Amino acid sequence: MMHWSLRRQSSWVQLAGHQGNFQVSKVGEVLKMHSKPEAKCLERLMRDTLRPFVPQYHGLVTRGEHCYIRLEDLLHGLRRPVIMDCKMGVRTFQEEELIKARTKPTPRSDLYHKMVKLDSLAPTEEEHTQQGVTKWRYLQWRDVCSGHQDRRHHGRRGGHMGYSATLPKFVYFQRAYHSRLLDLKDALRDSSFFRTHEVIGSSLLFVHDHNKASVWMIDFGKTTPLPDAWELQHTVPWTEGSREDGYLMGLTSLIASLSQAISM
Ligand code: ATP
Ligand code: MG
Ligand code: MG
Repeated sequence: MMHWSLRRQSSWVQLAGHQGNFQVSKVGEVLKMHSKPEAKCLERLMRDTLRPFVPQYHGLVTRGEHCYIRLEDLLHGLRRPVIMDCKMGVRTFQEEELIKARTKPTPRSDLYHKMVKLDSLAPTEEEHTQQGVTKWRYLQWRDVCSGHQDRRHHGRRGGHMGYSATLPKFVYFQRAYHSRLLDLKDALRDSSFFRTHEVIGSSLLFVHDHNKASVWMIDFGKTTPLPDAWELQHTVPWTEGSREDGYLMGLTSLIASLSQAISM
């Protein structure tokens, strides 16, 4: 899922997620609805080699009935920034979601209609007859159809071609993004957080304005620590039980697109 957006000066723009999940806070900070797994990840990230690549985490705050995570506003100080949210990896569901879904194999008509709306040829004959698909089937189909499992296109939803089409036109920004992604790849290689976590549904947020471009890792709500002594490669396709997320396949593909763009 790729979104580019322009935003008006000084107003907050959110590209993904539920609108109610975020609140504008004091200058330079945004508040995201608290979730324990995300807060735990951010705490760990503040002590990891990835710290320069994630929004700084300032702890929790309560507003009214809700608790929020305090995050550095990555758009702060930029003039009319252009932003892109690029979900990483080869799947968007956690293995436990799949297991839960499998224990409830009842066909659901709401998921059937969602499927038909995107691709009327996707359901099998049986699914058409019963006007329903199981959640297990839906989860797997959704990621395949949005590119997460397409072996040729490991960028993010949209793939290599899609990314090239959305690249900023100016070579200056392309170079800045390229060099930032190379630095990120080095930091990931040295990161104990990355080795020991399954990173699902997380994004790279590309941000540029008239004179600055950067990329950040965001959204750790579905990122989970692995059991002791288990480490992921992040470079291989997922098979059930492996917990592999394919994160580095996408990153390599993005870097390749940018290399190509700046060499033209
Ligand atoms: P989902 O799980 O549906 O992707 P979410 O509720 O977990 O959404 P995020 O993905 O973390 O939310 O963020 C949603 C959007 O908000 C991002 O695409 C980005 O546009 C914006 N955003 C998130 N964090 C920041 C930040 N620290 N600074 C600036 N913008 C941010
Ligand atoms: Mg997100
Ligand atoms: Mg999220």
